[in-house]
Amino acid sequence: MIIPNVNKLSDEQLKEVSDIVGGFGCRVQVITGQERCIYAIIGDERNDDMVTKLEGLTYINRVDRIQSPHKLMDVRSSLATHKVKIGGVTLGTEPFFCAGPCTIDPKNPQLTIETAHAVKEAGAHALRGGVWKPRTNPYSYQGDAKALLILMEASRATGLPVDTEVMDEEHLQLALEAGVDCLQIGARNALNYALLRQVGHAIAGSGVCVLLKRSIHMGAVQEFISAAEYIVQLGNPNVILCPRGTQPALDGYRNHPDESIVPLLKERTWAPVVVDPCHSVGKAAYVPAASLAAMAYGADGLCIECNVSPGKGIGDDPKQAVTPDVLKTIIQQARALWKIRNGRMG
Ligand code: PEP
Ligand code: MN
Repeated sequence: MIIPNVNKLSDEQLKEVSDIVGGFGCRVQVITGQERCIYAIIGDERNDDMVTKLEGLTYINRVDRIQSPHKLMDVRSSLATHKVKIGGVTLGTEPFFCAGPCTIDPKNPQLTIETAHAVKEAGAHALRGGVWKPRTNPYSYQGDAKALLILMEASRATGLPVDTEVMDEEHLQLALEAGVDCLQIGARNALNYALLRQVGHAIAGSGVCVLLKRSIHMGAVQEFISAAEYIVQLGNPNVILCPRGTQPALDGYRNHPDESIVPLLKERTWAPVVVDPCHSVGKAAYVPAASLAAMAYGADGLCIECNVSPGKGIGDDPKQAVTPDVLKTIIQQARALWKIRNGRMG
């Protein structure tokens, strides 16, 4: 729908608009109101180049698209009945929980192995753990491929599928060769379209999942869904959206908690939403409340940093990882909320 900033386009303006739209296989239909006219685009209006050309005309205010720009991620797309499965859970049919350390310490494999057993015991379906870490400070610990062996050992020992972040082609290849079940694309890379495409190509047609974090700097919900479309359009629909807080931070929290976008995502896309409350609030004491808020808002699950001894962990664990007993309570309460949400309580 083309909205001009004049009441009615002149004949020359209408011709200019019609020529642009015609160049993309569409035509213009005038809708005459009492005072103003608007101009419907008849045809496939999703072409960004067409919209950019129209919005570049001085007498056009904006172009509103009725069709979704996400052909596959859209809630009305042919993929809308697709179900993502991981850890024996079909997302959307029961709450899903992924937990584990922020960062796997290659010098202390036992800590990860013990934590893996403990998160399983607490009720988690999958184990998370960072092998390579995106750190703000280049002198901070950056990760180590040796940690991948520990993660896979923890997976074998517990039977839990694993999620780990990849930041480049080398990580991607190593993670896939090792048999990682879920590739995490972190908040710093969720807008790295080249990486999204690499991941999409590498997992096309496979059962590997992607946990796509919401970027620290993502604004419109559409931007998040478009990032997922990059992966899905290459042939693997197993994408899980993961809100984790954005910037600027809410004073006192690490980021601005964004679990409240879950209903907006659910309205626009069929993809499951698993919220990460830890990076959102950044402090273990706030994680239970943030977890339950996410579930109340309609999340399909949670991804939580957990460590048997948070103080001995590296990366974010000392400040924001919960202990397994706290995780267990969160999982129990999240399950209860799920039942309330679905009207199966009492
Ligand atoms: C993490 O999961 O440890 C992590 C670095 O997450 P994010 O990309 O959301 O900061
Ligand atoms: Mn972390």
